[in-house]
Amino acid sequence: MNPYMLIGSAIGTVEAAALSQRLAAWHDAMVMHERRLRVGRINHGCGDECAHGEARALWAEAVATFGRRAHDLSFLRSRAMTVAGPCESGAGSASSGLSPA
Ligand SMILES: [Zn+2]
Repeated sequence: MNPYMLIGSAIGTVEAAALSQRLAAWHDAMVMHERRLRVGRINHGCGDECAHGEARALWAEAVATFGRRAHDLSFLRSRAMTVAGPCESGAGSASSGLSPA
């Protein structure tokens, strides 16, 4: 049993079970996605629909649904925290960060 299903069954709600299934599917997609990046088969970078982009949305859902237990999902968390992943290179995020401290 994977960690997503473990948490889903520990929470015990329908929402948690559904989310854990989506997270498990995302995990597999992410592993394959990273493997393809590593061997250079995606040499133009990631598209909008890649698993990197999903990570942050799924992490937010996981925190909302699983609460503190979401932090056990280190794979998901680390991908969600890596905002500047290969997909984000060149995506305009540098425009709004210039507040004088
Ligand atoms: Zn990607």
